[in-house]
Amino acid sequence: MSAFCDVCVDIAVADTNRAFTYSIPENMRVLVGMRVIVPFGPRKVEGIVLALKYEVELELGRIKPIIRTLEDYPAILPPNMQLAREMADKFNCPLAATLRLMVPAQLRKSRVSVKNEKFARLLVSGEDIKKARDSQSRAPTRQLLIDLMSDGEEHSLSNLRLLVRSPLSALQKLEEQGIVEIFEKEVFRKPYPSGLLKTEDPILTPGQEEVLSEIIPAINKGQGSFLLHGVTGSGKTEVYIRAVRHALKLGKTAIVLVPEIILTPQIVSWFVSRFGDVAAVLHSRLSAGERYDEWRRLRLGDAKVAIGARSAVFAPLQNLGIIIVDEEHEQSYSSESSPAYDAREVALSRCKREGATLLLASATPSILSFAKAGRGDYMLLEMPERVNAKPLPKVHIVDMREELRLGNTGILSNLLLQKLEECIKKGDQAILFVNRRGYAPSVVCRSCGERLQCPQCDVAQTYHRSDKQMHCHYCGGISPVPEKCPSCGSTFLKTCGVGTQKLEEELKKLFPGVTTVRLDNDTTRGKDGHRKQLSVFRSGAAQVMVGTQMIAKGLDFPQVTLVGAVLADLSLNLPDYRAAERTFQLLTQLAGRAGRGDSEGEVIIQSYKPEHYAIKAAATQDFRSFFNQEFSRRRKDLYPPFTIIARILCLADDNITARKVSGEMFRFLDSKLKEKPLWKKSVLFFREDDAPIKRIMGKHRSQLFIKMVDNKMGEEVIAYLSEISRMEWNCSVQLEVNPATLA
Ligand code: ADP
Ligand code: ZN
Ligand code: ZN
Repeated sequence: MSAFCDVCVDIAVADTNRAFTYSIPENMRVLVGMRVIVPFGPRKVEGIVLALKYEVELELGRIKPIIRTLEDYPAILPPNMQLAREMADKFNCPLAATLRLMVPAQLRKSRVSVKNEKFARLLVSGEDIKKARDSQSRAPTRQLLIDLMSDGEEHSLSNLRLLVRSPLSALQKLEEQGIVEIFEKEVFRKPYPSGLLKTEDPILTPGQEEVLSEIIPAINKGQGSFLLHGVTGSGKTEVYIRAVRHALKLGKTAIVLVPEIILTPQIVSWFVSRFGDVAAVLHSRLSAGERYDEWRRLRLGDAKVAIGARSAVFAPLQNLGIIIVDEEHEQSYSSESSPAYDAREVALSRCKREGATLLLASATPSILSFAKAGRGDYMLLEMPERVNAKPLPKVHIVDMREELRLGNTGILSNLLLQKLEECIKKGDQAILFVNRRGYAPSVVCRSCGERLQCPQCDVAQTYHRSDKQMHCHYCGGISPVPEKCPSCGSTFLKTCGVGTQKLEEELKKLFPGVTTVRLDNDTTRGKDGHRKQLSVFRSGAAQVMVGTQMIAKGLDFPQVTLVGAVLADLSLNLPDYRAAERTFQLLTQLAGRAGRGDSEGEVIIQSYKPEHYAIKAAATQDFRSFFNQEFSRRRKDLYPPFTIIARILCLADDNITARKVSGEMFRFLDSKLKEKPLWKKSVLFFREDDAPIKRIMGKHRSQLFIKMVDNKMGEEVIAYLSEISRMEWNCSVQLEVNPATLA
């Protein structure tokens, strides 16, 4: 037994980014990776054991002992410990911050505990059961209990309570007589009902066979990184299921990442129905207890498949066989808060370290991943056809400028109206997409043209009809609609643009009697909000679904034959070099919702920029053509993957402070580049200015923006930027490398 250990205490202050040494009391079993409670100054704090030691250089009298261990097993396994160190290095953040990713938040600060339940079991068997029963002739409840438990199994009190009123006192009597035993046992709170129907395996399509014939040998060897490009409806989920099952057969485990679990209830229910209790689900809308228990089932080996959003990439699994990243192009895989990791990169690093196979998959792979596949980092696998050779939907583009010229000022084009009418008449279902929730994306003064803005943020407020208030989608702030224009006092305010609420209202007017269901952040709150809305649609009780981008993702509704994108190109205007990529992905995924059943699907894209290559390629579902055009545009305009984009965001209470800081950083970099000609060569461009959104939640935002070559020198520049950003500044600063949004 070692007598001392190094502990990383769980407080995120920079100067505690070192380990503290504690002594281990006799009879306390302490292992590396265990969570412990230690004295820290006057406080008691949680920490993670980093290393065991036999001797220390400190004065013995100054070393305090560990107070207790929180579990009797290490919460963090050795490979995840290494991963945490590697990430702390890479992101220049305290080890405590990366270790924190490995343990669910609920586990820390002891916010939840193990749940125990009472159980009872008969102590007698065979002939003695009858004797015991006869001995209770004047106590019918006790007799009933003996009957119920005559199978000799353990019965939870909560189950017995469903059948027998207040069984405890009767059981206690039986216990006194030595007939039953009552005991407490740890139980696991389950977020999803287990033991759902065991569905039969479908026969694989040739496409699925072919793809699996590459993946399976890789799992056997514990290596390989794949990018699966499979069109919508090509049956990617079945590939995941077979690959995971193969890993399990080898005694290995698996992680399946999905974009935001709440948006992908289908894939979860497919996995749970095919794998039962072997699958555990991790996501943010679970109750603290459920999340804790799912995590423990994985850690203790009761569950071997982790399904979850981004953070599930840290699932505490041993003997990892495969990590699957579904819809790998999704933005939600990169974390926006520090450490700003990308789950796909973490997945790759885990797979390499732990000898597992990586499978990234999408109908619309990210430009970055597809470029990497082209370079040979991933092996490209393709499924170009839908299951059962179902045709891809027919796509029409409607030029809304033309529509306006013909005198149609409505939200819906004549073509979309006509197709909707046909669809409804046939009794089919339709999905309509608009990329804003609320009623109207802005309210404008007719006299002076002023737009109502959030008082905290530099963005337009959205009018919501449901509560007749102005909402800010950045900070969540809500305020009443002013009676007069705050700028000129005019009372002529008008709503502009279309949100989901307005589209829904419009449909009710156009098609009285047709029931609609709306799917956006307002209607899907809570753990089950999303599932409820979807099940209304699935049951056929609603014929039209209206929603934001969340309807584009992974939904499989066979009755849907018509999909409409009401304003397809708004996302092209975002201040982001990936605007075209995002628009193409969204429209292609959206189109993929149509015609998944027996009838063919049709898609209508309404656009003001029908000639844009992202819209045209989405209409033909032609990923390669889009990739080629976008790739050459990125090369020409010097955007990733040809370059690295970095920025340091400065957030201050006033614009002057923010600009002062970013201005000073600019000068730092400028003079550094004069000293370092090699760095200067790799920095293609840098500037200092206000961020595109100047203010969010009251914080003024300025930036130092840099484009550089993706090479060794570029990396050194980033290291230098990180050094700058860690200096003492008058405001809070954040370094972002290839950030998910440039707002
Ligand atoms: P993707 O994720 O590629 O868009 P899905 O995994 O949602 O596609 O599969 C599309 C549909 O095809 C689903 O309804 C699924 O149940 C069905 N499917 C998948 N594989 C098979 C197969 N081998 N045989 C029959 N149906 C299948
Ligand atoms: Zn706001
Ligand atoms: Zn005005």
